[in-house]
Amino acid sequence: MHTLSLAAMRTALDGGEFSSVELCQHFIDRIKQQNEQLNAFVCTTEEQALRDAREADQKRASGDISGALHGLPIAHKDIFCTDGVTTTCGSRMLQDFVPPYNATVVEKLKAAGAICLGKTNMDEFAMGSSNENSYFGAVRNPWDNNRVPGGSSGGSAAAVAGRLVPACTGTDTGGSIRQPAAFCGITGLKPTYGRVSRYGMIAFASSLDQGGPMATTAEDCALLLNEMAGFDERDSTSIERDKDDYVSSLGNSVKGIKVGLPRQYFDAGLDASIEAGLQQAIKELEKLGVEFIEIDLANQHLSVPAYYIVAPAECSSNLARFDGVRYGHRCDNPQDLEDLYKRSRAEGFGREVKRRILVGTYALSAGYYDAYYLKAQKIRSLISQDFSQAFEQVDFILGPTTPSPAFKIGEKTGDPVEMYLNDIFTIPANLAGLPGISVPCGEVQSDGASLPVGMQLIGNYFDEARLLNIAHQYQKVTDWHTRIPA
Ligand code: GLN
Repeated sequence: MHTLSLAAMRTALDGGEFSSVELCQHFIDRIKQQNEQLNAFVCTTEEQALRDAREADQKRASGDISGALHGLPIAHKDIFCTDGVTTTCGSRMLQDFVPPYNATVVEKLKAAGAICLGKTNMDEFAMGSSNENSYFGAVRNPWDNNRVPGGSSGGSAAAVAGRLVPACTGTDTGGSIRQPAAFCGITGLKPTYGRVSRYGMIAFASSLDQGGPMATTAEDCALLLNEMAGFDERDSTSIERDKDDYVSSLGNSVKGIKVGLPRQYFDAGLDASIEAGLQQAIKELEKLGVEFIEIDLANQHLSVPAYYIVAPAECSSNLARFDGVRYGHRCDNPQDLEDLYKRSRAEGFGREVKRRILVGTYALSAGYYDAYYLKAQKIRSLISQDFSQAFEQVDFILGPTTPSPAFKIGEKTGDPVEMYLNDIFTIPANLAGLPGISVPCGEVQSDGASLPVGMQLIGNYFDEARLLNIAHQYQKVTDWHTRIPA
């Protein structure tokens, strides 16, 4: 059962091949067998899930189908608030936080009939590229347990890759859906900024954060996005614009579509194995009638430094709310208010989060604002302009998702800058607010392990339907997305 895609599971449920209870139980058993090793889930909601599955089966029997995901199991990144279910955001600060409401995304997927099996592990407050920053321990890559699954949605990626659940939610501030999707050999989409509501999604960097689907196929991502997307008046940056039907556009031809290959992405520094995977994918797409053009994205190299000013600046402000007073961790026996703030935050936050708060507070301080924050915002505009110019010539931009395949646990923890450079290909889309998808496009052998390779396609604003379709067309003629770690 676990080798099926979400779409195939839906057909099987419709055809009465198995029940939702059987399906959910199967995945719950897989989580029990494998989570100790992978650490992909921070909590499971087995009882509630089986209750919901029973109800879904009963409803189905009486012809009452709640929505497109009726009775299908999923899991949520532990950054999404879930009513009555602990939401930790990977932090000691929120270890015992039980939200009194659901995030809009959680609410919408529930309304479509999806059943939540649990919450997935993540880097603390979504800050990281390897999932080593979780208070609940590192997540292991199912392809090689000595390697990272990527981050910050590493729990979601590992859970889907290991077939512990067919699909998950994730969030992407600088690559956190696409980079772990690439490292784990799954498909992950970061939608256009504002397409998916951020309400109830714990904030890291509000002008960059965007939730999206992670699954084995582009088709499954489309199924999920159909439910997740849409205007939400409770999120002031949510866009008031009709959503497309991401599923019905999946049959379209990609003949004549123009795809840009940025010179800067294929320069030296790209792992040979990644380059080989991409070249092969380009050939496959050419066979489908896609045309390739070389383009320039001249300011891409500035994206990492700009991001590491903007994101920490916004995080320092967002995380000010965790003060030990309202919710989250509170230190024992505070001497006075200042002691309460200081010790609650010192105890509640981990090293990387503290580092970002320090950098962000510094960059925003009166004497340095112009030199750092303002400059970073100007660079952000330049990067957006590069993309706008490119999209005058092409429909999509193709490149690597990551500079290398999954690295070893502990390999980069000593050098934050080296860790940050992992996001060099994903960050530009966040700075510009554009949609991007990572699709598995190859495999490399390293130290006796097979590791997946991901390719990234970036689209113009709100072009998710065509983006998902080109990924889907590619997956129809390739089988990388069907490979399952041993
Ligand atoms: N790895 C990046 C960071 O550490 C991006 C994280 C994310 O997208 N949430 O900030």
